[in-house]
Amino acid sequence: MRLFFALRPDPALGERLAALAEQARRHCGGRATPRASLHLTLAFLGEVPESRLDALIRLTEAFPCPAGSWSADRYGSFPHGGIVWLGSSRPCPPLESLHRDLWQALTPLGFAPPRRPFLPHVTLLRHAAPEKRDPCVLARLPRPRLDWHYTGIELVQSVAEGGRHRYRGLASSGRH
Ligand code: ATP
Ligand code: MG
Repeated sequence: MRLFFALRPDPALGERLAALAEQARRHCGGRATPRASLHLTLAFLGEVPESRLDALIRLTEAFPCPAGSWSADRYGSFPHGGIVWLGSSRPCPPLESLHRDLWQALTPLGFAPPRRPFLPHVTLLRHAAPEKRDPCVLARLPRPRLDWHYTGIELVQSVAEGGRHRYRGLASSGRH
């Protein structure tokens, strides 16, 4: 099973993210992330044997996720896949601790954190036109301003379907 942990928006925030994705799509081309797929990845586990699922669900449900807020105010891009994302110009210490605590909880289960630094972002577009995802061009989009108030994390399965992935929530952390 291909699994990852993420923050997923409530319907109102999902609506706002989808509107930003649509605005970016008009500017950059490509394909906007469908509303139900918008998320912020906290920890990507990749392919995991199904036998580990129970332990991961227990970990998720018991995970003490303090409520917090992440402010998005800029766009960025990854050349691979023509990704345009929504991110933040400032570090977010509470989200960084959440990321660290989650990986710390995952370590005893045999999962190791990536070496790459954590870059909180929400993928808005895929296959955007190369010249349109230039940072200077993206800076011409109206500056996004969005506060994501989160209260919990989700364990999500990524299911390949027709050359794309769709996501299925498997477990959520409770409120603590
Ligand atoms: P597709 O690969 O079809 O474009 P996707 O990237 O949304 O779809 P997945 O590849 O299953 O679907 O990834 C699920 C989430 O995990 C996405 O947010 C993706 O950016 C992130 N992700 C995927 N691979 C890694 C990785 N190696 N390291 C960190 N995050 C990753
Ligand atoms: Mg992918």
